[in-house]
Amino acid sequence: MFENHLPTEELQALDAAHHMHPFTDGSALNKKGARVITAAKGVWLTDSDGNRILDAMAGLWCVNIGYGRPEMAEAAKRQIEQLSFYNTFFQTTHVPAVTLAAKLAQIAPGDLNHVHFANSGSEANDTNLRLVRHYWAAKGKPTKRIVIGRWNGYHGSTMGSGSLGGMKFMHAQGGMPIPDVAHIEQPDWWMQGGDSDPADFGLARAKQLEEKILELGQDNVAAFIAEPIQGSGGVIVPPATYWPEIQRICAHYDVLLIADEVITGFGRTGKWFGSQTLDLRPDIMTIAKGMSSGYAPIGASLLSDNVANTINDAGEFNHGYTYAAHPLSAALALENIRILEDEKIVDHVANVAAPYLREKWEGLIDHPLVGDASIVGLMGSIRMTPDKAARAKFKSDEGTAGYICRERCFANNLVMRHVGDRMVISPPLVITKAEIDQFIDRAVQSLDETH
Ligand code: PLP
Repeated sequence: MFENHLPTEELQALDAAHHMHPFTDGSALNKKGARVITAAKGVWLTDSDGNRILDAMAGLWCVNIGYGRPEMAEAAKRQIEQLSFYNTFFQTTHVPAVTLAAKLAQIAPGDLNHVHFANSGSEANDTNLRLVRHYWAAKGKPTKRIVIGRWNGYHGSTMGSGSLGGMKFMHAQGGMPIPDVAHIEQPDWWMQGGDSDPADFGLARAKQLEEKILELGQDNVAAFIAEPIQGSGGVIVPPATYWPEIQRICAHYDVLLIADEVITGFGRTGKWFGSQTLDLRPDIMTIAKGMSSGYAPIGASLLSDNVANTINDAGEFNHGYTYAAHPLSAALALENIRILEDEKIVDHVANVAAPYLREKWEGLIDHPLVGDASIVGLMGSIRMTPDKAARAKFKSDEGTAGYICRERCFANNLVMRHVGDRMVISPPLVITKAEIDQFIDRAVQSLDETH
């Protein structure tokens, strides 16, 4: 174990001097000092001042089985002693890679029977960009190159995956989106639906995909990529009419459907995959995060028989990562899936945690600040608004309620994330009813303190 003998202030000073944080205003953080997390168990984090913090974000949507599992430590030790590293590039394979690929094929829906490994969700989505183009070229349709994503979708932070995503503040850095990527609007009825009926709005937003395909030309469009439920964009649950229409359009225009299940996979929505909860039949699925519950970095693209066989028959696919299917990560993913299965954690979400949390979460709508409360399985959001009836946004000069609420949560030893004026949650799937009670008490207190 890494022993820490330094006081908090010294760690913070070293952090400020040397560590650049992702997606962070560095100078603002350096002035106040980062909170130092020193340990974690179950749903609880411990910081360097000894506070116990309830982590309602499961790290970054990933620690599905909870922190600090001794079985995972033992699996890591066993694997490092057995085979610390080998790659699968040059006509070789290894036991964790084979076993994990077969296991994923068994639990994935439909005929997603083939696995191309990566080390993160971003990398897997970069792979998907190349895969779909390679697929269509192999099918004799090399002009089908464009991948359509959604504004405010998130698919990762590399140039490729950042382009697939629709985070305009990332695109503003320049060079994104890369060529042959296009976007349509998201199905966010609450914020963008105006006076429309949610079902009509869902259909209209799905039809934008058809319009975009017709605008770009069916012969030029390779794939559509989307999260079954947008996560980083603010847990936006689409109207029920949305996905069936998207599925129909993809099939009609011969456009591959990529379901980015980096957040929604591995039990988050109350089934193993969000595609099962929302009844999608993707050709490709992106997975990461809950695949190893964050115990080691790993991601993958799951491919249907048709996509994989076409690619395999097309000669060499010139793409791969040194650490893809790293034996340690693969062994930890396998142990993570074993724990999910043996402890029936997905059933716990569906039958115990999600129904219990749903009732309390939706009850937050009675709070004067909360205009909407959405939740599917154990991923949810609330939207704060100055005027519920008008579904109004806070104006920037009123301060961002989300930022203030996030700070109040932190002071109250609770982690919720803010996305604009929305608070989003995705607690570890093992959260108990008693912990949900504590979570909601702290959330209400933090909302009460948000002025
Ligand atoms: N796809 C989705 C839906 C995500 O939510 C994320 C990360 O939050 C990614 C891809 C990128 O994954 P990573 O951060 O592992 O690269």
